[in-house]
Amino acid sequence: MTTEKKEYKKFWDEALETLPRPELDKLQTRLLKEHLTFAYHHSVYYKEAFDQAGVSPEDFKELSDLRKFPFINKQVEREQQQKKPLLGNMLAVSEEEVVFVSASSGSTGVPTLSPFTKQDFDDFQSVESRLFWAMGMRPTDRYVHALNFSLFVGGPDVIGAQNLGALCIWAGSIPSDRLLFILKEFQPTVIWTTPSYAWYLGDTAKKQGIDPAKDLAINKIIVAGESGGSIPATRDAIEKLWDATVYDFFGLSDIFGACAGACDEHNGLHLAEDNILVELINPETKEPVPDGEQGELVFTTLKKSARPMIRFRTGDIGHIDRRPCACGRTHTRIYIDGRLDDMLIVSGVNVFPSDIEYVVRNIPQLSGEYQITAITENFSTKFIVEVEQAINNIESKEVLADIVSSQIKTRVGVKPKKVVVHDYDTLPRATHKAKRLIDNRKTSFTYTI
Ligand SMILES: [Zn+2]
Repeated sequence: MTTEKKEYKKFWDEALETLPRPELDKLQTRLLKEHLTFAYHHSVYYKEAFDQAGVSPEDFKELSDLRKFPFINKQVEREQQQKKPLLGNMLAVSEEEVVFVSASSGSTGVPTLSPFTKQDFDDFQSVESRLFWAMGMRPTDRYVHALNFSLFVGGPDVIGAQNLGALCIWAGSIPSDRLLFILKEFQPTVIWTTPSYAWYLGDTAKKQGIDPAKDLAINKIIVAGESGGSIPATRDAIEKLWDATVYDFFGLSDIFGACAGACDEHNGLHLAEDNILVELINPETKEPVPDGEQGELVFTTLKKSARPMIRFRTGDIGHIDRRPCACGRTHTRIYIDGRLDDMLIVSGVNVFPSDIEYVVRNIPQLSGEYQITAITENFSTKFIVEVEQAINNIESKEVLADIVSSQIKTRVGVKPKKVVVHDYDTLPRATHKAKRLIDNRKTSFTYTI
């Protein structure tokens, strides 16, 4: 047995991850042509939808031709599922070939199912291993998977870590005390959670006399489900608490539990472009938005055969960078700025909860917890921000409220109607997915396709 430290390769799949842009475009064009043809001939929904729009896979010759094809969204997905239970009219294989389904509940409470064939599932886990590797996970790591296993598409992601060779602890969503016990006894090096929960768990550990930075071995925290992982101040706070590096991650129940992940540059998330194609559109006009500008992210699967997703409007607002990354990877980097549903339009300016978080987490006299309430006043949207003072704050609440208000004005261009500063530990603590926005507006605008 050798005690030498093993040197691992930098990339999981160097040729694929560093494929020059023209080659990537060529690969996507070929895959998409096959995928559109497959969807048209095997799915009842796509045959009808393409015919109705007067397009056929024959019309697709280059990537920009995708714009001729109709969009889909969550509503279409739900309707098509209800038309033909269990798996719906978008299905492009027989149920016999489906081996796995994940579900997302959505706002109406009707769960939409995302079906996978054996090949789809293997592709999903192969991408997962690649994304984990880019975050620095290696076979020497002990990985604790603290995500929900019940129907959640992030549940099986643990298999990607296992296939990579890491020692995997299938924790699931368990009470914090039990999770802390695992972290203390098994000394895992990597954990996956939401940013809110990473903060909550570290805080809980401290209250129990465990210092996450010294008493635990966690050196990497993978986060998903909220924008915090890409907000520098939030990331810094979690990193300091744990003495670990935070890697942001993006998955989507409707497509894959492994769509995009951060690399060591922490500048956007590399999208698995051999499986998913991204477009950016103006949510109102549905016209393409130039790279670098903000728009709604639209994804198209390139291989997923159980249920192809062609031009799926995610409702996520973000921007993209197609230039090669300093890490050497060429796959497009996506930046998620917020949910369209959570976007407030205040005096013509787009305001996201993530903008408020950016400000709140940068003010040391605050605890970092916050809540936003949207209201209607004189037929226009206004917002109230509630924050908490830090445990050791000596500044007056009035002064703090002014600081928050003017920094929000600097960041987003509009001031909140009011900033309320509460005592430490009085706002509700989020355990998993934090709900930061309370919408008390009488009417809300929704975009339709
Ligand atoms: Zn990179």
